[in-house]
Amino acid sequence: MNPPISMSQNIKSKSHHQLIDDESDLTAKGRISEIELDNELCKKQQALSLAYTEIYFPHKPYDVQLKYMESVVQTLDRKHNALLESPTGTGKTLSLLCASLGWLTKHRKEQQKTNNPTKLRIIYASRTHAQLKQVAQELKKTVYKPNVSVLGSRDQYCLRGDFYNIKGNLLNQNCRKVVKANQCQYFKKDVVMFMALQYKTLINSLEEAKQFGYKNKICPYYFERQRLDEADIILLPYNYLLEKDFQDYVNIDNSILIFDEAHNVQSTAEEGSSFFITQNIIIEAEKDLEKWIDELETVPIFYEQLKVKLNQAKLYNELKEYRSIVITIRTFSQYLEQLKQQPIFTLQDTNEKYQILDARQIQSLIFQYTSDEDNTFRLWNDSVLTNYAKGITRNNIARYLSHCMILIDVMSELSQFPANHFESWTKFIMNVYDLIRVEDEREKQKQSLSSLQNQFNQYKLSFMIDVANQITIYMWCLEPSLAFQRILSKNIHSVLLTSGTLSPMQSWTCELRMNFQTQFQSPHIINIQQSLIVFQHKQFDFSYQQRNNDEQFNRLGQNLLNFSYVIPNGILVIFSSYSLMFKFRSKLTSSKLLFRLNEIKHCLWEPQQTGEMQNVFELYKQHSKKGAIMFAVQRGKVAEGIDFSDELCRAVFLVGVPYPPKQDHKVSQKMEYLEKIYNDPEFNDQDRLRSQEWYCQQAIRATNQALGRVIRHVNDYGIVFLCDKRFEYTDIKKGFSEWVKTALKPWVNDDEVLKQTKAFYNRTDNNFQTPSQKIMTEEKSSQQSEVKKRNLKLFGLKCQKQLEKLKSDSQYDIEEQEKPQYLQIESKQVCETEEKQQFEQSEINFTPSQGKNKIKIQIQSNKAQVDDQIVNSALNQQKLNQILNNDNNTDQFNYFTSQKDFFSSIKQPQQQSESQRKGIIKIKQKK
Ligand code: SF4
Repeated sequence: MNPPISMSQNIKSKSHHQLIDDESDLTAKGRISEIELDNELCKKQQALSLAYTEIYFPHKPYDVQLKYMESVVQTLDRKHNALLESPTGTGKTLSLLCASLGWLTKHRKEQQKTNNPTKLRIIYASRTHAQLKQVAQELKKTVYKPNVSVLGSRDQYCLRGDFYNIKGNLLNQNCRKVVKANQCQYFKKDVVMFMALQYKTLINSLEEAKQFGYKNKICPYYFERQRLDEADIILLPYNYLLEKDFQDYVNIDNSILIFDEAHNVQSTAEEGSSFFITQNIIIEAEKDLEKWIDELETVPIFYEQLKVKLNQAKLYNELKEYRSIVITIRTFSQYLEQLKQQPIFTLQDTNEKYQILDARQIQSLIFQYTSDEDNTFRLWNDSVLTNYAKGITRNNIARYLSHCMILIDVMSELSQFPANHFESWTKFIMNVYDLIRVEDEREKQKQSLSSLQNQFNQYKLSFMIDVANQITIYMWCLEPSLAFQRILSKNIHSVLLTSGTLSPMQSWTCELRMNFQTQFQSPHIINIQQSLIVFQHKQFDFSYQQRNNDEQFNRLGQNLLNFSYVIPNGILVIFSSYSLMFKFRSKLTSSKLLFRLNEIKHCLWEPQQTGEMQNVFELYKQHSKKGAIMFAVQRGKVAEGIDFSDELCRAVFLVGVPYPPKQDHKVSQKMEYLEKIYNDPEFNDQDRLRSQEWYCQQAIRATNQALGRVIRHVNDYGIVFLCDKRFEYTDIKKGFSEWVKTALKPWVNDDEVLKQTKAFYNRTDNNFQTPSQKIMTEEKSSQQSEVKKRNLKLFGLKCQKQLEKLKSDSQYDIEEQEKPQYLQIESKQVCETEEKQQFEQSEINFTPSQGKNKIKIQIQSNKAQVDDQIVNSALNQQKLNQILNNDNNTDQFNYFTSQKDFFSSIKQPQQQSESQRKGIIKIKQKK
């Protein structure tokens, strides 16, 4: 018997993030309530009236901020969409939050008056959780205290140590299993629901939710999901929002969608609609499924559960169906193995081989190569054909998926074997089915769809064989508007795209095929004449054809060396590609220039593995004060993600223009696709973008992003060196951000540029010193650092000694305290040494041990290497005060501003809720 038809109609694929799964019932059904405001803060902040809307702002806004906020308010008033460009450092995020939340506050009040039951909320999306963390910090500065939910995946939120190395589908399956069996110490449904209601505001970031989870033994993943119902603002990375199946799990109706750092939205939208599967996954999927079916046949309880799920008395025929699903997977895997031997693949530079086909062919390949009738007959040895004896067909694909989904639902919770690969296979077929359905609909309704409505036309099918001889099938989506069409099919109030680099603005309408009624570009907040120079070199040419010109690599190396003497602190050198960076590195090494450069500036290189970047960045930070260079690539973390403010970046060298590599077949397919649309009379002008325009725009956006590294706030300053004459090309130059254009200067000759550079830093940077001054300062600061280091050590030792002494003394009695109270000691800028880091990550807790009439003191460092320094002791409150006030202990606190300051800063924790009882002592550096 087949699964109930309604089930097959309602098949929903699951996001690989497994953001939300079927246990969820997450719709925007929260109550309409006013946005909470911090009334005390309201008295201190600026109340502005912008377009008849009251907006609170933490300080007197700059002109550009006022105009930016006004645009936001007007856009929302008119239910429009907006493109809002404002350079980095102009307080864009704060302005956006204040304006949108101020507007929502007004809107909610109006709604209450008119009894309008629709709850409008904000979905605030940025590129990464790291960027959302900055949004959360800005939100805390405002008077607005909305209900928040921070969406993340289990990969990011799971607290279980034993699941630490498990990711993706496997983690999702394991989590569902332990939750179902009530075996996760962090998941108690009632507690999660209770806590979510209690803590609607204040926990605003992934980190905070995790800390909260650890402290309260509550799973942050489920906690945030639970908070979704009541949320006024949902924070999430925008790739979630642009994923195909996101809206199946989170209702985005009645939302204001904000895309912050939106310059990469198009490529993320394409990725969100693309999908792939590897041969390895297919091989493992077959094994996964076989194990499950063996279990179903041998473990009666599993069999019974499946019967209940399917609402069927017998499952004999169903088991046969599952066996034949195994055969479909095996047969397809064998087809791929044979395909690898075919001489149809083209070899590319990277030693990978590829073959590109029309996307529509994916259906015929799946229909044709999942059928192996001989094997099926041999296996079952009877005359009854299973539904899938002839493989996946147009007629049975929905049922096939339904069978797979039921099995995943039941067995992922019951079985001891994971089947994450089988889930990936199911998802791949599901995605293909989604495309087929559009065609089927068309046939059913006998409609002719426009080229764009036919989704297969928006994809390319690519078979890729990697260097390990593994074959991968990609379904590339070439049309970013597809994701936005899904979004706009809902009841969306407004879509706001904002970034420091949206130029050229006109391309957004073409690419996303939507109307942006508001287009706002703000000037920079800084005084460009004083804070920035952009030198344009006229001779370098690092185009693909000119890369073998060793002479210009030497010249660039020599320039860098010369400029390193006059540029203070940190320098970023950003190449258009890794291959160019590696070439330069090898030339620099062989000419010994790297050795000389290293003597002046500590040289570091952006790693290709993103996981290693944090360590490299930490090293760079340590060295940047004295001088460091970070060599990096366009579109990488250095060029687009990390904040290099002040001395972390006093100059940027852009080497090569970051055009996308035409030899990359995905790039060439995209360009071909754009040309096809351009020549299609079905499209009107505003929907058409020439492939060459798109090609230049990619270079412009990446360049503007990299240029944005140099000025991060109103007091920042620096110089940019454009090291490629192609930056002079009109189509590139006209795309530069407006504030960059006003700072452009020609590279007259090396000596002149060097002279101007020197003058710029001498004028701008009062702390900039000649090499001899620098040595003297370094000696002095190293002496001071030694003193600080000694003091800190002394403090630690004394503290420990004191506590050891107390430990052996058991005569202290104290008044009993009802609940634990905490005092935390936190050090701030004590010194630059490792001890500082250790100490900063240490906690000193004073906790009454319940029932023992004692206060436990615990100094605990989160750093593994000092874990053995944990000191426990007990003393009474009075004695504690005596110790802290004992004049004989002078030298243990001798680097505080004064002992009195330190003692007086110790306060009894206030009688707040238990988790809030926390007093903080700040240890200040002696002036
Ligand atoms: S419920 Fe448990 S297993 Fe699941 S994500 Fe939370 S901590 Fe991890």
